[in-house]
Amino acid sequence: MDHLMQVLHGRGVASGVAMGRVVTMHADLSDIYRFPLAGAEEVGAEVERFEEARRRTSDELRSLRTQVDGELGSDLAAIFDAHLLLLEDASFGKRVVDRIRTEQVNAEWAVHKTVEELEGRFAEIENEYLRERNEDVRDVGRQIMRILRGVSAHELSELGNEVIVVADDLTPSEAVQLGRQGVDGFVLEGGGRTSHTTIIARSLNVPLVAGVAGITGQITDNDPVIVNGDRGEVVLHPTPAMLARYRQQQQQQQEREQEMLATCALAACTRDGVEVSLMANIDLPEEIDEVRRFGAAGVGLYRSEFLYIESSPELPSEDDHLAIYRRIVEVAAPFPAVIRTYDLGGRKLAREVMHTSEDNPVLGLRGIRLTLARPDVFRTQLRALFRAGLHGDLWVLLPMVSAVEEVHRFRAFADEVMAELEAEGVPFARDFKLGIMIEVPGAALTADLLAREVDFFAIGTNDLIQYALAVDRNNEHVADLYQPLHPGILRMLRFVVDSAAAAGIEVEICGEMASDPRYAPLLVGLGLTRLSMSPRQVPEVKTRIRQLEYAALRQLVGECTSLASASEVERHAADFFAARRSAASAPAEESTLRRAQ
Ligand code: PEP
Ligand code: MG
Repeated sequence: MDHLMQVLHGRGVASGVAMGRVVTMHADLSDIYRFPLAGAEEVGAEVERFEEARRRTSDELRSLRTQVDGELGSDLAAIFDAHLLLLEDASFGKRVVDRIRTEQVNAEWAVHKTVEELEGRFAEIENEYLRERNEDVRDVGRQIMRILRGVSAHELSELGNEVIVVADDLTPSEAVQLGRQGVDGFVLEGGGRTSHTTIIARSLNVPLVAGVAGITGQITDNDPVIVNGDRGEVVLHPTPAMLARYRQQQQQQQEREQEMLATCALAACTRDGVEVSLMANIDLPEEIDEVRRFGAAGVGLYRSEFLYIESSPELPSEDDHLAIYRRIVEVAAPFPAVIRTYDLGGRKLAREVMHTSEDNPVLGLRGIRLTLARPDVFRTQLRALFRAGLHGDLWVLLPMVSAVEEVHRFRAFADEVMAELEAEGVPFARDFKLGIMIEVPGAALTADLLAREVDFFAIGTNDLIQYALAVDRNNEHVADLYQPLHPGILRMLRFVVDSAAAAGIEVEICGEMASDPRYAPLLVGLGLTRLSMSPRQVPEVKTRIRQLEYAALRQLVGECTSLASASEVERHAADFFAARRSAASAPAEESTLRRAQ
């Protein structure tokens, strides 16, 4: 059957264009995708893989049953009987095996589809007890799936080129894995412009369209699709003409990127001579070489928690930390390297580190709160940091600081760690600059007091906006309220920058706002001269800054901070640039302050 082309709309949050075939994934079972098998031999091997996983799952359930029987009694142990019964039931296995054979698909997909089908049947049963057996079916499916992961699991990269993953949502670590397996594009039902999954997609240069409601129900695996991360569009079943147009656009984009590289040799300087440092945000080792390639002036943020996320469930060793910190400090030279201590928590794997679960982790044990509560974990990181300080200009940054005491406690702990290194005769650098993220509104509003305690501020607008406007940065339902130009945010930024200037300390901005050329005029006008962003964004932001005039921007910012809403700020900036353009016929200064969401 011929399919009609269809265009779905979402938010383009990681730019670029990708074309390929759909592979769908499910948030709770992210490694489920449909993998077509080639020929009878592969089918036989896949059936054996499933049988092996089924045997191992049974063995595991039996030993759990024995353990629970001994410790908690036979009533609770009986829970496992129901699972075992289902798992060993011949018709369950037969359904899965039949599906592998007839559809020639991988075991994960066959289990997933069989569980889905059985769940549907159970849901229709009138008897409540039987209806609730649905849960058992789902649990057994999950357990086989987990075990299958360890039985010669398929890699997405085996699927070949041009894979577009479509999912309800993905965690940052899933995005890292998929991006590294060569996925070309992401389409999500959920997600936000500053979510960590989006940030990872940008780090790996994979286009992402977020907030495409209901897409997982509208597509079928293997459907041809185009992902347009610039326009926030997903084209299903594109016509040949449409595909040709996109291929041409892709080509133009690549040429434009090449041209942009020429800006590396230029200074990020406004027309009236104010120099701005454009630094790099680094999440993954892949980006380290991009720092110099795109002409960044050092590293303004290394999110060290990704080192943990990548090696999870293992904690990185001191040598693992040292190896990457040293590379970062060296690549940044002669500029500074800002390394942020673990910002675990929120949606970033706190449970695995703390073995606790929280109702509201974004307001919970996150960042400096968590590391101070786990000195064993923190010590390893700090030892490596201080050792890495021998190799360049190290700035240490603490995330999620909300109170002065956290800085004091950090300093006391850092002294302890240094005394330890000294006693062991391990060489390390005693001197480093200490800074804090300004991303909690309470910290922003006491920036004048906090400025006495540290050497620099790093403004994290991703969280500052989330916390100040009470808008979850991952939630597509409130994405329109996530407004970087909200007067409340502009006022906080102004206060933080002015407080830093009054205290004579450095201040940088490293939230995603800094990487968007549309915001450059206001950020520079606020007095920010250090902007840190994904290295690939440096050329574009630099080009924008070279068109601006600082003195005029100061005036613009002064006017904007007394306006009543984000849309008034936008409009005012548009008028401002339009007036200047017609007065001085300076075509370069067109307004670019459109809303990002
Ligand atoms: C921020 O909050 O703006 C920030 C840079 O940190 P993260 O995105 O890792 O929370
Ligand atoms: Mg943050």
